[in-house]
Amino acid sequence: MGDLNEIFDLGRETLHRAEQRLDISRRDFLQFCSTLAVTMGLPSGAEAAIAKAIETAQRPSVIWLHFQECTGCTESLLRAEHPTLEKLILDVISLDYHETLMAAAGHQAEAARKDAMAAHKGKYVLVVEGAIPLKDNGIYCKVGGHTAVDLVKECAADAAAVIAIGSCASWGGMPSSGPNPTGASSLAEVLGKPVVTIPGCPPNPYNFLATVVHFLTFGKLPEVDKLGRPKFAYSRLIHEHCERRAHFDAGRFAMQFGDSGHRQGYCLYKLGCKGPETYANCSTIGFGDAGENNWPVGCGHPCIGCTEKGVGFTKPIHQVARMINVAPPLQYPRIVEEQGKGASFASAAALAALAGAAAGGAAMLTVNLGLSHQAEEAQRAKNGSKQKDDAEV
Ligand code: SF4
Repeated sequence: MGDLNEIFDLGRETLHRAEQRLDISRRDFLQFCSTLAVTMGLPSGAEAAIAKAIETAQRPSVIWLHFQECTGCTESLLRAEHPTLEKLILDVISLDYHETLMAAAGHQAEAARKDAMAAHKGKYVLVVEGAIPLKDNGIYCKVGGHTAVDLVKECAADAAAVIAIGSCASWGGMPSSGPNPTGASSLAEVLGKPVVTIPGCPPNPYNFLATVVHFLTFGKLPEVDKLGRPKFAYSRLIHEHCERRAHFDAGRFAMQFGDSGHRQGYCLYKLGCKGPETYANCSTIGFGDAGENNWPVGCGHPCIGCTEKGVGFTKPIHQVARMINVAPPLQYPRIVEEQGKGASFASAAALAALAGAAAGGAAMLTVNLGLSHQAEEAQRAKNGSKQKDDAEV
């Protein structure tokens, strides 16, 4: 009991100091810590550890490089509201170099980058936004007279952690899609070693914040999958938790933009939704603090698979997705057939009876239904084990 009181008092003190330092209300600060803890899938109580780390740990210096991209990743971060970016810059991380946001320009900007690298040697976090062109010795992207390749190698040499933010830095993204005239490549390809990737076009700001705060709280980056994506955010298919999943399971699809199915919020699979083959948490956390359903599928547009190499910017937008989970998992309640279909079975049976083949027809129907039920159960069991495998990827 004494220990619990101690933790409670520590938490109360921590909150008070954080309140003063960040100049935000206790409620907002707790909401921020809880949001990050939930995003990372941490157990109850982790928000206290996060709060303590934010309040006491030295703000990590962040050097943020821009290469072949649209700046949408930064725009995405600007939409984080709990707290706002200005709070993040000033109080949670120390954004020492960011070409889009910094006031300095030219030689002053270059000096700021070098100063930050020297002052925080071995401790700063390097964030790279955009693909890196390799063709013709990398001449297609230069900053301050240096190629992107040279810059990124120089900055990565003494970084404590390297993060590729957005699909372009993670796996080439839009600039690398055919014909790729500049040889746009991912950060990992350029450095020749794995890095943490936060793909998305744009990536969700909370996935980035959670990754940095995990580093701050636990002194290490979160566990990642084989593509370098933090597992807390990219271990499940979008399709698994999509708000339109019930329509998919019931076979209700929008067939054209603006048709009655589309207007009624039916599943977008047949319009080319890539949710069934795309790993990300868009369907669970949404985007930009603008309320529920604030993500492409929620707004009526099929998922384009932007977090998935070989899907986003590679497959045509309207190409139907490769199905990984064909049927709902066994633990889902069954969705009853629509009444019209049952009625057609009844009519068929009645007609068969009228034709004098009631007994034979009923027997055949029973056999067929039994077989189709067995086949369905077998498929569902197969999908259940497949889904388990997918979850372990
Ligand atoms: Fe949602 Fe797309 Fe899956 Fe349909 S196919 S349930 S819209 S993720």
